[in-house]
Amino acid sequence: MKNRLDSIKKQLHAQSYKLTPQREATVLVLLEHESAHLSAEDVYLLVKEKAPEIGLATVYRTLELLTELEVVDKINFGDGVSRFDLRKEGASHSHHHLVCIECGAVDEIQEDLLGDVEAVIENKYRFSVKDHRLTFHGICHRHSEKEGATEQNEENEQMQV
Ligand SMILES: [Zn+2]
Ligand SMILES: [Zn+2]
Ligand SMILES: [Zn+2]
Repeated sequence: MKNRLDSIKKQLHAQSYKLTPQREATVLVLLEHESAHLSAEDVYLLVKEKAPEIGLATVYRTLELLTELEVVDKINFGDGVSRFDLRKEGASHSHHHLVCIECGAVDEIQEDLLGDVEAVIENKYRFSVKDHRLTFHGICHRHSEKEGATEQNEENEQMQV
């Protein structure tokens, strides 16, 4: 985590920003809750535990700055809430999300997988792809075991008939 913090510090310095204690506390919260997809309010409540003097406006500004510098991605899963997601180190494009319509779990796909699609968009549509947001809505693996078991039972029943 120290390394990630250092490299984020360098990213800020490269664009003439300092990692102030408030910014550092915000980045730490994002690192500690890496795959939690926190809203600004969630981040604020967690930052407050580290830096009680910090205000919501400062946290908002920090999150906007980190978004601008592409340290974090601002994402929206269709519920109207902006969530902040750390970009993986060295990733030039956003990662993808799998949102479960049954239990609300949000899983991440770190592989880009879009090389062919991006090539078509670049060549056929003459559009230079810089980034993308891709969210899949469906039923996650946590339910497949149960469903698999039901299918198995149905098969058994049919065999008995
Ligand atoms: Zn994510
Ligand atoms: Zn991509
Ligand atoms: Zn689920």
